[in-house]
Amino acid sequence: MRYLEPRSLPEALEALSEHGEEAKVLAGGQSLLLMLHSRLIHPAVMLALQRLTELSGIAYQSTEGLRLGAMTTQRMIETSPLVRQHCPMLAHASSLIASVHVRSLGTLGGNLCHNLPGADSPPALIALDATVSLASRRGARQLAVAELFRGFMDTVIEPDELLTEIVIPASSLGRRAVYLKHCVRDVDPALVGVAVSLTPADDHIRCADVRIGIGGVSATPYRALSAEKILRGQRLDGSSIAAAAAAASDDCDPITDAHGSARYRQKMLAVFMRRALTAAWKQDNQNDL
Ligand SMILES: Cc1cc2nc3c(=O)[nH]c(=O)nc-3n(C[C@H](O)[C@H](O)[C@H](O)COP(=O)(O)OP(=O)(O)OC[C@H]3O[C@@H](n4cnc5c(N)ncnc54)[C@H](O)[C@@H]3O)c2cc1C
Repeated sequence: MRYLEPRSLPEALEALSEHGEEAKVLAGGQSLLLMLHSRLIHPAVMLALQRLTELSGIAYQSTEGLRLGAMTTQRMIETSPLVRQHCPMLAHASSLIASVHVRSLGTLGGNLCHNLPGADSPPALIALDATVSLASRRGARQLAVAELFRGFMDTVIEPDELLTEIVIPASSLGRRAVYLKHCVRDVDPALVGVAVSLTPADDHIRCADVRIGIGGVSATPYRALSAEKILRGQRLDGSSIAAAAAAASDDCDPITDAHGSARYRQKMLAVFMRRALTAAWKQDNQNDL
C-alpha cells in the first residue's frame, strides 16, 4: 500500500484523480483503520488528509452561517465557542459521539462519508438544512446533507471527490433545535437518533416550520417528511406531536443488528420523536404544551 500525504487541496485532488478507484482517503482514521485492521478493505493507495490544514476550522458569518471544514474534529465542534453560541444542538450532538479519544481524532467529514447507521452528525445536520461541498479536479458541487447518503455505508461521493466543507445556513441558526440519542452504552452509535429544528409562528401556538432528521433506524439517515407535513403550520400540541411521531414510526424501514431489533427501533423512534419535538417546542419556555 502506498501512503500519500498531500500538502494542499489541489495536490490531494490531483492524487485522487490519478488513484481514486484504488485509493482510500484517511481523515481521523477512527472508522477506516478499524476496517483496514479487520481486512474489510485493501486499498492500494492511502491518501492522508492530515496536512491539509485548510480543511480544518470553524467560521461564522451572520449572513452565511457556520462553515465547518471537513477535517474539523468532533471534539473541536463540541468545544467551539462559535458552535456553542450559534448552534448548540450540533455541539451537543458531537459531544454524544463515542469517547473524548474518538472525538479528538474523528472528523465531521469522516463521520458523514463513513455513513455508519446511528452516526450522530447526519440527523443533526439534516435538521439544520446543512449542505456539503464536494471537490474534484472536475470542479466543485454542493449537495444537501440528506442527498449525500445512497445506501448502507454508501454515499454519492465519486472516487475522485473529496468532501471539503459543511455549511449550516444562517436561517437555521436562530431556530429551536434538539438532538436526542438512544443507545445501549455511551460509546455506541445511536439505536435511534432524532434531530428537530423548528420555528414557532408569531402566535406562539402554531409551528411555522419544522425539519426533522432521523438516524439509526434505517440503512441511511433521512428527513422525516411525512411527520414534518403533519406539523408545519399546525397547532403544536400533544395530539399533533403524537400523530407526527406515529407517522415517522410507520414510515421508517428499520434495521436489526446486534444492538437492537427492527421492531424495537421502530417503537423507540416514536418515543424519541415525541420527546425531541416536545423539548424543542419548550426550549425557550414561551408556550408550554
Ligand atoms: C469506538 C468507536 C465508537 C464510535 N461511536 C460513534 C458514535 O457514537 N457516533 C458516531 O457518530 N460515530 C461513532 N464512531 C465513528 C467516529 O465518529 C468516526 O470518527 C467517524 O465515523 C469517522 O471519522 P474519521 O475522521 O475518523 O474518518 P476515517 O475513519 O478516516 O474515514 C471514514 C470514511 O470516510 C472517508 N472520508 C473521510 N474523510 C473524507 C473526506 N473529507 N472526503 C471523502 N471521504 C472521506 C474515508 O475514506 C473512509 O471511507 C465511533 C467510532 C469508534 C472507533
